Amino acid sequence: MDKLQVTMLGTGSPRPDLERSGPAQVLTAGDQHILIDCGEGTTTQLLKAGIPPEKINYLFMTHLHSDHIFGYGQFLLGGWGLGRRELTVVGPKGMRQFHDTIINLFEDDIAYRTSLGRPGNGVLDVNIIEIDGPGEIDCGLQMKIMAAKMVHNVLTYGYRFEIGEEIIVISGDTAPTEAIVELSKDADLLVIDACLAPTAVYHNTTNPELQKIWENLQKEHCSPEQAAEIAREAGVKKLVLTHFLPDINKEKTKKQAADLFDGEVIVGEDLQVIPVTIKNNILL
Ligand SMILES: [Zn+2]
Ligand SMILES: [Zn+2]
Repeated sequence: MDKLQVTMLGTGSPRPDLERSGPAQVLTAGDQHILIDCGEGTTTQLLKAGIPPEKINYLFMTHLHSDHIFGYGQFLLGGWGLGRRELTVVGPKGMRQFHDTIINLFEDDIAYRTSLGRPGNGVLDVNIIEIDGPGEIDCGLQMKIMAAKMVHNVLTYGYRFEIGEEIIVISGDTAPTEAIVELSKDADLLVIDACLAPTAVYHNTTNPELQKIWENLQKEHCSPEQAAEIAREAGVKKLVLTHFLPDINKEKTKKQAADLFDGEVIVGEDLQVIPVTIKNNILL
């Protein structure tokens, strides 16, 4: 394996933002690309990142909130149109129903495209794996993958990928929880929800509706400080903050985390590539 990296495709949130696409990232290990979450704009962001969408045969969904799944229809059908013939999707309970709904919605469309001569493989035979609960996931990939239950309004899993000696963790959306500390133990890279970063949208408002929402968001997401504390407790090497509302104060966000965490802190940007150093080059 000559390359291990995470590409931040979308570092945004449910609030539409020109600078930040919907939540999604790709883990690249050698020539294997694994997509985690599939927010609005994921397929376009893949193209911009130079990763052919049809080369992605594995998608892990952290949860089924709209901001994380809006891009699925385009990823599924568009990637198939580009030549993908195999796809495995791992996600929480409800993933199959969501997938089937998309297939039913576009039944005539898919029938038209298969009538043109395109095989149905890659769209009609998608392997859906619904996770039973926390623990190891066997999905055919040659690496150890663990899922842990996060603290969020709907069933949400964080994922830990152990590739050779390297460990990469993606939290999905979560409030602080011991489960993310355990999942991130000794990780080389942790990509974590820091939705509660300082933003003018909520901080300089006297609008009671927005104030109420901000208060309630405290139960569902992490702040940069909380993300840093999780990373410090878990012994993480590199911390990537993501899932931002529009117009965050980037300097403040970075400082809030860096004050509490000695490792590298990255305030994620769309299309940013974050390399992971491979300690011993084991061929996978
Ligand atoms: Zn969510
Ligand atoms: Zn979200």
